[in-house]
Amino acid sequence: QLENVGFIGLGNMGAHMARNLVMAGYKVTVHDINENTMKKFSDDGIPTKQSPLEVSESSDVIITMLPSSAHVLDVYNGQNGLLADGANLGPWLYIDSSTVDPQTSRKISMDISRCTLKENKAYNDKPVMLDAPVSGGVPAAEAGKLTFMVGGLEEAYLAAKPLLLSMGKNAIYCGGPGNGSVAKICNNMAMAISMLGVSEAFALGQNLGIKASVLTDIFNCSSARCWSSDTYNPVPGVMMGVPSSRNYDGGFTSKLMTKDLDLAMVSASGVGFKCPFGSQAFEIYRKLCADGCELKDFSCAFRHYYDGKDE
Ligand code: NAD
Repeated sequence: QLENVGFIGLGNMGAHMARNLVMAGYKVTVHDINENTMKKFSDDGIPTKQSPLEVSESSDVIITMLPSSAHVLDVYNGQNGLLADGANLGPWLYIDSSTVDPQTSRKISMDISRCTLKENKAYNDKPVMLDAPVSGGVPAAEAGKLTFMVGGLEEAYLAAKPLLLSMGKNAIYCGGPGNGSVAKICNNMAMAISMLGVSEAFALGQNLGIKASVLTDIFNCSSARCWSSDTYNPVPGVMMGVPSSRNYDGGFTSKLMTKDLDLAMVSASGVGFKCPFGSQAFEIYRKLCADGCELKDFSCAFRHYYDGKDE
């Protein structure tokens, strides 16, 4: 039974996700450290609580959508955190949709598996955790069209699927604990590298005299076609409705991309794996952020290559 949902982290993504759950008929209780955000929810008649622990008192399932690993660890293991009543949890299912490193997802999953439930209502009478980060960004969160990449116990994934599909259009099972986070950081590392590759090729093309719109047409019916060329083109004026057509405002910020590449690099070094392109992409995005582009969409890397100057 997953009727009562506790939602923690009502930022750019979480606020839309929580509202979509309300619209789907779930009984949602929310918490955020930002009082102004909480007020918007209480003004709309959605119950708010002052701590994660209080949210858990009235919930069957908890969803967290927080900035980074440190915030997630704090919400779970901090004072008045979700696991503060360790031996006696109310909710039986915990879903973390934040983008964090797999090691953090696995640690929390392990912490939860050591707890017991107030009432027996889960598999083996134990609370369970799913890591379920998302792809899609703020517009997809608002439209309920996110893709969830889910790690953890498969039965828990199947039980959570209708809930996830109230916020998204896809929920894909990735394997055991942490594998959702693995999928997410690998996806974003590949996205960063392909965006940089496409940007570099467009910049070279323009310097050699071909129009970006023509080169885009070629790419999109040739072997260089990818999401960065046909859906999220980084060259201003080639596509409407993408960040490159509005001075790289909105979209997925370079700051978040840098964070995700950092997670990939830390995870790679944790298993002794080298990612030469990933680490180069990490350096480029770090530089873009240091040069003042941290709130610009990550496709602004094109400008970095095209005229050699950052904003
Ligand atoms: P955000 O910074 O807009 O929102 C985070 C929210 O968490 C804020 O409202 C903040 O007040 C709250 N918060 C922080 N610490 C807290 C705590 N201790 N207790 C309770 N609330 C706390 O972030 P976002 O853009 O909504 O992203 C959330 C996660 O989703 C991140 O991990 C991000 O990488 C990932 N993500 C973001 C996007 C995107 O396009 N924005 C896309 C995919 C994935």
